[in-house]
Amino acid sequence: AQRPFIVGNWKMHGTRAMLSEARAIDRAAERMVKVEVALAPPFTLIHATRKEAELIGVGAQDCHYAESGAHTGDISAPMLKDSGAGFVIVGHSERRADYGESDEIVRRKADAVIAAHMNVIVCIGETEAQRDAGEAEAVVTAQLAASLPGAENTAERLTVAYEPVWAIGTGRTPTVDDVSAMHRAIRAKLVELLGEAGQSVRILYGGSVKPDNAAELLSADEVGGALVGGASLTAESFLGIIIAAA
Ligand code: 13P
Repeated sequence: AQRPFIVGNWKMHGTRAMLSEARAIDRAAERMVKVEVALAPPFTLIHATRKEAELIGVGAQDCHYAESGAHTGDISAPMLKDSGAGFVIVGHSERRADYGESDEIVRRKADAVIAAHMNVIVCIGETEAQRDAGEAEAVVTAQLAASLPGAENTAERLTVAYEPVWAIGTGRTPTVDDVSAMHRAIRAKLVELLGEAGQSVRILYGGSVKPDNAAELLSADEVGGALVGGASLTAESFLGIIIAAA
């Protein structure tokens, strides 16, 4: 079986003072060989984090879909690669909600990441209203189908992150049964879309993962790791999750 993949998404947190946390996480990762660990700091810290950290993966939280051009304030996938990123998160619900990113835009970003020879984490997840309406699986599998990159080697480069919007930053999580059901549905859709190669794509759970609930959430069916927001901001809490995954 693949190692669990635990990714910290720092969101819009962190100045150079936080590099000490990245360093502490990296030092500890040396002893946690059973877990694959990565951090996605803000753009401004990618290069410095890559220099600080020898063992863990370092990636970005978003990118533009174009390689270059007149897009003031945007950052392209090749630029991220050049600054030391090995992967990019695309389609996070905060991007979808705050910037109106559609599945089509997310797919184009994912394609750009793979074209730049990096790995991509594609995020999907339902809102609370969609879950209450009984539409969660339909919404999430449709998002997946429409957001998936089209490259031939997609399965090798892809990680999917299931993050129910109502569980992000709220301290609320789905039950283990609900996580299992959704991850099984995502697996089935991946196999439908990518063939047998879809079996090997890791599916992360994200949304209020903490040291004290990580082991339980990671025990759900088809959960290959976690995408962690708030609890990845200190080495102490992030390492608590990594230990739970080991
Ligand atoms: P929290 O862990 O803070 O709920 O955030 C989850 C998330 O959005 C990670 O991408």
